Amino acid sequence: MNPQTAEANRARTRQKILVVEDENDIRELLRFNLAQEGFAVEEAGDGAEALDRVARRAPDLMVLDLMLPRMSGLELCRRMRANPDTARLPILIVTAKGAEVDRVLGLEMGADDYVVKPFSPREVVARVKALLRRANPAGAAAEGPSLFDRGRLRIDFAAYEVFVDGARKELALREFELLRFFVQHPLRVYSREQLLDLVWGRDTFVEPRTVDVHVRRLRQQIERDDARPELILTVRSVGYRFNPEALEQGL
Ligand code: CA
Repeated sequence: MNPQTAEANRARTRQKILVVEDENDIRELLRFNLAQEGFAVEEAGDGAEALDRVARRAPDLMVLDLMLPRMSGLELCRRMRANPDTARLPILIVTAKGAEVDRVLGLEMGADDYVVKPFSPREVVARVKALLRRANPAGAAAEGPSLFDRGRLRIDFAAYEVFVDGARKELALREFELLRFFVQHPLRVYSREQLLDLVWGRDTFVEPRTVDVHVRRLRQQIERDDARPELILTVRSVGYRFNPEALEQGL
């Protein structure tokens, strides 16, 4: 794969979420939790700002609070659906507890799902992932085979599911993308900087040490003994490489 193709694939896999919410602390909570899962998060504090951001760069999904100043979330939702460019944009609405009318109206206006305040960030993240899967079931398949199945490891790229020795593992999106990269690029050694470029993307400003944190978390999920890794090997003073041969060892 040449660098341009890798870059294009990387840009496709990094999904953009637009969070539309006027309450700063809730918007920050959403931004933080979605960013931790590896999403590129944009924010808008009201409907007009949201329209502006969407016009400049369409997101892959919108998290939309219905109670907004100036333009209501319902109106924004209606406008998204009326525009052919955003008619199919997945929209997760956030409604206040007890505002059942808003929820029903929101779904009628074309929202895809809803969460009720106060929500748990985990729940929002889970719904976002589910909506993105539904919206683009072939997205992962378009970048290569949709299934990796070798020895102890089975990955369903389309469903974002990972099984080790038959047991389902819950990987954060970033760990999943890192694992995807490793299995699709076996044997070669990658430096931390290369992994940041190819998995995180150039537009993120994170320390190369961040890679170590995510490799550690990934090892905890997929290695038999994460203190003595066999699958994701550390190559001293260089970086990491994936060792697929270990998948069949000891079976
Ligand atoms: Ca609000």
